[in-house]
Amino acid sequence: MNAFEAANYYISKASRIMNLGPRVERLLLSLEAEHHVSVPIERDNGELAVFSGYRFQHNSARGPTKGGLRYHPTLDADDVRALATLMTWKTAVVNVPFGGAKGGIACDPSQLSQGELERITRKFVERISAEIGPQRDIPAPDVNTNAQVMAWIMDQYARLHGFAPAVVTGKPVELHGSEGREAATGYGVICVAENFMRDIGNNLKGATVAIQGFGNVGMFAALFANERGAKVVAISDVSGGIANPVGLDIPALVAWTRSGRLLAEYEHDGVLRITNDVLLNWEADVLIPAALGGALRRDVALEVRAKVIVEAANAPTFPDADEIFEQRGITVIPDILANAGGVTVSYFEWTQNLQCLRWTEPEVNDRLRQIMSSAYATIRDVVRSRKLGWRTAAYIVALGRVAKAAMMRGV
Ligand code: NAD
Repeated sequence: MNAFEAANYYISKASRIMNLGPRVERLLLSLEAEHHVSVPIERDNGELAVFSGYRFQHNSARGPTKGGLRYHPTLDADDVRALATLMTWKTAVVNVPFGGAKGGIACDPSQLSQGELERITRKFVERISAEIGPQRDIPAPDVNTNAQVMAWIMDQYARLHGFAPAVVTGKPVELHGSEGREAATGYGVICVAENFMRDIGNNLKGATVAIQGFGNVGMFAALFANERGAKVVAISDVSGGIANPVGLDIPALVAWTRSGRLLAEYEHDGVLRITNDVLLNWEADVLIPAALGGALRRDVALEVRAKVIVEAANAPTFPDADEIFEQRGITVIPDILANAGGVTVSYFEWTQNLQCLRWTEPEVNDRLRQIMSSAYATIRDVVRSRKLGWRTAAYIVALGRVAKAAMMRGV
C-alpha cells in the first residue's frame, strides 16, 4: 500500500460507517488538480540541474486550499497526493476555512548551497505562480523548508503579481509572519497530549515521552513537554537517537541541534545511544512520531510500549499497524487532529495579513489553545458516543464537514 492508498483507506472506512455512498466518496477521494513542473537551475559550478516540482490541490469546497511544501529527495507524486488529501481533513477537523493541498520539490537540500536553494524556490514559484494565491492556494513550511524559504516565495510572488503576503504562511515574523507560527505545531501536539492524559485520569506532568524527529515539530514538542513537567526520555533525528531514563536535558539539546550538529554526535553522562527503530519501542507513556511518514509499520507496532501515540508527523502509521494498535489497546491520536496546530496558526497569519494587523504571541497561543481543545473535545465526544477509534472519529467529523460543503456547492 503506498502513502496515497493508505490515506484513502481511512477515508473509505469512515465513509462506510457514515453511509456517504459511492458518489460522495468518489468526489472526496479525487484531487481537483495536480500541477507537476520541472524546476531547472544553474548550479554554483555552472552545471544545469533539473528537479521535479509538485503542487497538488485536493479539495477546495470549504475555502482556498492550504498545505506545506516539502523538499526531500524521495518525494514523489503519491506522497504529495496523500499529503494534500490529509490537509483537507486536517483543516476540516479544526474547522478553519480552507481546503487541502501539498507540494514540494524532489531534492536534497543538504547537497545544495543557500544560493541554489533560493534559485530552486524562485523558479518553482515562477512555474506555479498562476496556481497559488491568497484566495486560491496558500503554501506553508514542511520538511526541510523554513521561514527563509517562505520569504523567498512571498518575494517571488510579489515580483510577478504585486505585494500579497497572504499568498504564503510560515514567513519570518519580520516579514509579515505570525508570532507563534514556528512553535505552533509542537504546541498543538502537546496541548492534545495534555488533554488526553487528563481525560484518562493521568497527567502529562511526570509522564515519560519519546519523540522521533527533532526538527521544527519534534523540537518544539519536546520543549513544551519539558516545560509542562513531562520527562522526555528519548529523542532522535536522521542520524539516530539518544535516551536517558531519568530524562534528557531538552534546552541543551535544542541549542546543540540549532548550532547545526546531529544528535549522534551528542555525548553526555547517562545518555545512551539508540537507533531510530529502538526509539519507537522505548519505554515511555507517550510516543510522538515527528519525522517522516510510514515510521510505524506492522512489525514496529507489535513492539511499541507506549500507552498513547500522538501523531505529530503526517501519516506516520500504516493501516495494518493501526489495527495492531487497536487490538493492543494503544490509543493513536491521529495526525489530522494532533498536528493541526501549524495550519491553525497559518490561518491566523493569513487572517492578519489580509487585515494588515498583528496579534501578540499570547493572543495567538490563547486562540490556538482554544481551537485545539475544542477540536479535541469534538472528536473525543464522537469516540465516546460511537465507541470508535480516534482516527475514525476524526475522519467522520472531517468528512461530514467537507461532504456537506461540497454537496451544498454542487458538483
Ligand atoms: P523538519 O525538516 O524540521 O524536521 C524533520 C526531522 O526528522 C529532523 O530532525 C530529521 O533529522 C528527522 N528525520 C528525517 N528522517 C528521519 C528518519 N528516517 N528517522 C528519524 N528522524 C528522521 O520537519 P518538520 O517540519 O519538523 O516536520 C516533521 C513532520 O511533521 C513531517 O511529517 C511533517 O509533514 C509534519 N508536520 C509539520 C508541520 C510544520 O508546521 N512544520 C505541520 C504539520 C505536520
